[in-house]
Amino acid sequence: MTGINHAAVGGLLAVALPLPIAIPAALASHFILDMLPHYGIPQERRDKSVFWRFFGTADFLAVIVFLAFVVLVVWQRWDIFICALAAVSPDLVWVARIIRTRSFNLSKNETRFTRWHARIQRLERPWGVFVEIPLAVGLVALLASVIR
Ligand SMILES: [Zn+2]
Repeated sequence: MTGINHAAVGGLLAVALPLPIAIPAALASHFILDMLPHYGIPQERRDKSVFWRFFGTADFLAVIVFLAFVVLVVWQRWDIFICALAAVSPDLVWVARIIRTRSFNLSKNETRFTRWHARIQRLERPWGVFVEIPLAVGLVALLASVIR
């Protein structure tokens, strides 16, 4: 699942639940969302796909802008920031590896956690992009409407 969708769901949980419950719920939501059908292409094609590299980079930047500007500067909501960060945090392992190896191919997983995290994403499909982009717009719009 894209980072912006994880972050938006974490933000919605911050609005819906008291913070001590919302933080672990946001973390758990990450893995539930990763089990649902979402965008993905085979790992061995990711470095060759211009669209995949663009989409992954754009998603990463969207999360940074969302957290640092929209949530903290515009909305000034630390609870949403913390829960959105908790919701995206499991994927920071992938981001660190992409930066370190300069490769979007995440097929070589050496820890039990990353093997499990990769395995639960069995429903990654190319058509998932047509679900994830409208979902991101809808979730961020929903979050914006419920915080006011
Ligand atoms: Zn994930």
